[in-house]
Amino acid sequence: MLVPPPIGFSNKCKRCGLRYPGKERECVHCSNLTDVQMEEMLEQKRSAHKNTANLGKLFFYIMLLILIGMVIFAQ
Ligand SMILES: [Zn+2]
Repeated sequence: MLVPPPIGFSNKCKRCGLRYPGKERECVHCSNLTDVQMEEMLEQKRSAHKNTANLGKLFFYIMLLILIGMVIFAQ
């Protein structure tokens, strides 16, 4: 019995640049969006990524402050 290989995100959309499953004929991200909607969707993805990066930086600073506090109170 033939088992089809697992289908991942193998197609890259020429329009929005995002990956979508190879079994789909059209991009699942932008095929039903207008150009303006697509730009908004991409912008949202970009800002979401930026927020995650900022959160990581904030976490780093908080850890740094805790470490400094521990050093100060240990003396
Ligand atoms: Zn697309």
